[in-house]
Amino acid sequence: MIGDRFPRVALGHLPTPLERAPRLSEWLDGPEIWIKRDDCTGLASGGNKTRKLEFLLADALRQDADTLVTIGAVQSNHVRQTAAAAARCGLACHALLETEVPCEEVSYTRSGNILLDGLFACGIEYHARGTDMNALARERVESLRAQGRRPYLIPVGGSNGTGALAYVACAEELAGQFADMDLVVSRIVHATGSGGTQAGLLAGFHAAGRDVGIVGISVSANESEQLEKVRALTADTLDRLGVHRPLPESAIQVREDFIGDGYGLPTAAMREAVEQCARLEGLLLDPVYSGKAMAGLIDMVRTGELSAGNTVVFLHTGGSAGLFAYDWFFSGG
Ligand SMILES: *Cc1c(COP(=O)(O)O)cnc(C)c1O
Repeated sequence: MIGDRFPRVALGHLPTPLERAPRLSEWLDGPEIWIKRDDCTGLASGGNKTRKLEFLLADALRQDADTLVTIGAVQSNHVRQTAAAAARCGLACHALLETEVPCEEVSYTRSGNILLDGLFACGIEYHARGTDMNALARERVESLRAQGRRPYLIPVGGSNGTGALAYVACAEELAGQFADMDLVVSRIVHATGSGGTQAGLLAGFHAAGRDVGIVGISVSANESEQLEKVRALTADTLDRLGVHRPLPESAIQVREDFIGDGYGLPTAAMREAVEQCARLEGLLLDPVYSGKAMAGLIDMVRTGELSAGNTVVFLHTGGSAGLFAYDWFFSGG
């Protein structure tokens, strides 16, 4: 398997289940919906970053690193899983958090993911919105090195060519599940942020010569920015895999209509998606990523883009720990 050609450390509960969502499908009166449960990867309440960290940690350990340095928003699922992975591997973790979401609710600043970061003894520093976080992270790597530490820098979302390999492996996992369950899947829908999930899936299915439509619902960047991010990362990933057939430009599909007022800011469509998945399937989505992605899927059904007779897979990338930072939005609903 392509995903096994590269070093990885076992961190997740894999493979994750692929489950039918019959009551959600019936409510929408549209396609048959299946949920790929990457919210169940196991590490510190799970999520898609755990898969990427299996490859990133292997690289860090190979370089004999003793400290992970990474970047995220205050309620970053990526930072939470990175801090847990560091703890599990006996490394320190230092996170630079950008106060990107203008929210001063105590639950947002203290609970949810940020509470868990503290449990993992992750070092935290805060920076104002708009700070050049990449430059600052490189500086932090240098200052740690000057103190005699051996830092390893993980980019935002764990999205580089190494992290994206994890979703090549996930594409292989899905292809196997589709075959075992006799599923003909017309579309995979998921939240796209730093782009590694979508790039890995695109590269993985392309490498296997399989044609599955993958739709990334953007949670922050506009369509053209997100397309460019995913395109560059997919090319890098295919390069690492030694696949030289280029991916057709049209294979990269991104939707920008579900972001609302910005990253991490709630929308009415997200509320509907989170509440309906909870009430119909006992399934927890999150306010920042999977809730907006499911809002996108619901819209694709309502506009007739996905209809009865189709089978669609929603890749649930996790994030439910973030619900506790948004009690002020959900309570009373
Ligand atoms: C990070 C994250 C995403 C986005 O994945 P990318 O690989 O960064 O595009 C989606 N959902 C959740 C819950 C996440 O934490």
